[in-house]
Amino acid sequence: MKGKTPQDQQDSHANSRRDFLKTASAAAVAVGIGVGMAHTTHAAMPASPLMTKDEEGHETLLIKNVNIFDGTHDQLKKGMSVLIKGNTIVEISTNFTVPHNTKIIDGGGRTLTPGFIDIHTHLQFNVGPHEFMAAPADYHGALALWEANNTLMRGFTTMRDVGGSVWGVKRAIDEGYFPGPRLYSSGSVIGMTAGHGDYRTTNTFPRQLGGASETEIERLGMTYFADGVPEVLSASRTVMRSGAAFIKMFVGGAVSGLYDPLDVAEYSLEEIKAAAHEADRWNTYLAVHTYTDKATMTSIEAGAKTLEHCNLIGEKTVKHAVKNGCYISAQTGVYLSPAPESFTPAQVARQQQAAEGLDNLLTLCQKHKAKVAFGCDLLASLASKETQCTEFVNRTKWFSNVEILKQATSVNGEILALSGPRNPYPGKLGVIEKGALADVLLINGNPLKDLDLLLNPDENIAVIVKDGKVYKDTLSQHSIG
Ligand SMILES: [Zn+2]
Repeated sequence: MKGKTPQDQQDSHANSRRDFLKTASAAAVAVGIGVGMAHTTHAAMPASPLMTKDEEGHETLLIKNVNIFDGTHDQLKKGMSVLIKGNTIVEISTNFTVPHNTKIIDGGGRTLTPGFIDIHTHLQFNVGPHEFMAAPADYHGALALWEANNTLMRGFTTMRDVGGSVWGVKRAIDEGYFPGPRLYSSGSVIGMTAGHGDYRTTNTFPRQLGGASETEIERLGMTYFADGVPEVLSASRTVMRSGAAFIKMFVGGAVSGLYDPLDVAEYSLEEIKAAAHEADRWNTYLAVHTYTDKATMTSIEAGAKTLEHCNLIGEKTVKHAVKNGCYISAQTGVYLSPAPESFTPAQVARQQQAAEGLDNLLTLCQKHKAKVAFGCDLLASLASKETQCTEFVNRTKWFSNVEILKQATSVNGEILALSGPRNPYPGKLGVIEKGALADVLLINGNPLKDLDLLLNPDENIAVIVKDGKVYKDTLSQHSIG
């Protein structure tokens, strides 16, 4: 999304490549001394290179001498220790007996936080739209693995992927072949003819009017085109059959769309209801891409639970969202960054319009205590994804540091839990508490006082643990037993 020259991008990609090699090898070493048995969903699989059992036979991990931001409270809990067994936090205390076979990390008074969650990502989408449709699917998979590692090294231990095919990448990460965050995916987004997601040329006819039964964007797993209730139901069921944690639908115009100005309300109440009710029958929820009052009110009425973007909604709609327990899944950086060079004047104007709506939206959210999620929606270039951590600092215009940190941890964790039995990682995320999944960060300094620390995760995140395994550890360590 950044207006970089090809040469700039080449330089930037070269830097990313060096960083990747550096962090990937560090991760490989670190995981080798991690704790607990690696989680695997396919028992017959041979052990992967990154699934090595702890060489020293440690069964538990103790992170001692830390100040805890637990994801929900405003104050740090000082001078604490956290004990992790397998992939679970089993004890949080000032003082307890250290079990034998424990790997110990001395936090040295650093801040321990839950791993961060990015609630709006597109891991598959790392090049511009035209390149995206022309490139082989495995190229997209390769870039996604690269970016998954980068994301983890920025402290994001979970991504909710709201559109795109990440099933193979997710499986390879979950099986331990590659470092990367947990992935909650919607798979293909359900979109209507002429809606956001319809990147077909105007010479490509919809299949209902004699066009091909499948187009590039569908084949690559980005979108299912569905018009009318029966097709929306088929698409919803296909998404859920593929293993989705929730359903995502485009219900309004988009900044980067080709044929759908922002004011357009996409899909009727009945069509949105069809997807929301199907999600409900699978005991999960519907997330919708929406900007305007009209599209957002219709979605709330239909039963959608997470409202992505919302930049142009007014007070009545914010209040209605709060009343109905919906989450406002807002982003800032993607609007405040310079428009990509590939944008047409119409797209640039729409980005400007969406950016101008942010202040009103987030001020209203603050006023009405709306549940605001933390997401970035960075896409179409690896360089733009490097700006992920600016989202923390951008939000200080509207929210306190602790509010922003709660958004990126416990509030987002609540959204992940909405997947119910479709949750691919059963357990609590976004909090530091007994029984929660062990995704934790150790930060040099106190982000409650200084969020700028997070702009430089390479320097300032000393330890990254996901699912009980250590992926980065810059601190001295020793073991007992
Ligand atoms: Zn998006």
